[in-house]
Amino acid sequence: MLVLVINSGSSSLKYQLRDVAAGEVLAEGMVDRIGFPEEGGELEVPDHEAALDLVDAALHEALAGRRIDAVGHRVVHGGERFGDPVLIDNEITRSIERLNPLAPLHNPANVLGIRAIADKWPDVPQVAVFDTAYHRTIPERAWRYAVPDWLYTRHGIRRYGFHGTSHQYVAGRAAALLGIDPAAFDGVVLHLGNGASATAVQGGRSIDTSMGFTPLEGLVMGTRSGDVDPSILVFLGRLGMTPDEIDDLLNRESGLKALGGSNDMRTLVESAERGDAKARRALDVASYRLAKYVGAYHVAVGGARAIVFTAGIGENSSVFRGLVAERLGALGVVLDAAANAARSSEPRAVSAAESAIPVLVVPTDEERAIAEATAAVVTAAVGGQMPR
Ligand code: ADP
Repeated sequence: MLVLVINSGSSSLKYQLRDVAAGEVLAEGMVDRIGFPEEGGELEVPDHEAALDLVDAALHEALAGRRIDAVGHRVVHGGERFGDPVLIDNEITRSIERLNPLAPLHNPANVLGIRAIADKWPDVPQVAVFDTAYHRTIPERAWRYAVPDWLYTRHGIRRYGFHGTSHQYVAGRAAALLGIDPAAFDGVVLHLGNGASATAVQGGRSIDTSMGFTPLEGLVMGTRSGDVDPSILVFLGRLGMTPDEIDDLLNRESGLKALGGSNDMRTLVESAERGDAKARRALDVASYRLAKYVGAYHVAVGGARAIVFTAGIGENSSVFRGLVAERLGALGVVLDAAANAARSSEPRAVSAAESAIPVLVVPTDEERAIAEATAAVVTAAVGGQMPR
């Protein structure tokens, strides 16, 4: 089955064409600057329909006369309704739209992508895979904030969690690497990219995660602060900062960028090795925060069988993994220095044989997970038969 995976943003459209059975990527790319005027004021890519025409043209060669069997969308917010990938129809599209207030930047853009494809290829089934879905199993004690009930009942203010597709995929691969049934896997998964989140996995399900109502809560990220005392926001408001200014400050001007002068882990590690005090401080604050979450989630899952690193930093930065692991000595965690330093794109253990908890590196692949989920939903919808 050929599945086109779409990640539709407000001004960009990322795509990947996959042959699901063969596990192959046939084509991938991104159309950028949708709705942005070029020099002379011309709109090169006026809207998502135009972006899709460019994708269509780019796929021509890879398709070699074959047709796309299904489209899988990465949809950021599934609210409380969506725990599983769903076949999209008009009602589902409207439900995704109704969640716009919870993800005002992302869900409207996802819907633009869905509608553009429905117009262009009305016969191709579309599936929505939600970034929040894996976390729908989080129990109330972990999703509820200790604030008056109307915040939840009137505004949906609760923990949702994000990066779910990645956490679920990585937890499954980690279980396989350890020879554990995925439905019996207890562990802590650390997705460390520009955005970063930790998830407590018990019995293969998410039972807690560090991102909350929005992706701002939790770990120190590239440009996001993660946890802060909420009174800081009130204090800034009283200084006269507007909600948008505070939003920008905490989401785009904070995190590693604020602490160390760069949101790029490679730059920070190089600067720290040259003795740069700000870069060292950034690594120190971020690795300390992360180790605290690992300790908390080790308790939450009743004893982790593995600590799993993934995404840009988790997969590639042996230095950052080392800093976190050093702080986990109290849990009996010991890295194997050579295994941790070795570069590989395969799932692997980086801990020493005597480590009380195995430490794994498992590359994430959200597009693959979305393509496989899409194929499964479409196959089930046509009564167990693969279309075409
Ligand atoms: P996104 O959330 O945008 O998908 P990624 O998962 O690509 O982000 O992660 C981006 C982060 O990964 C950046 O901080 C970058 O510095 C870091 N990173 C990427 N490659 C390496 C590397 N070889 N060594 C250390 N850090 C890396």
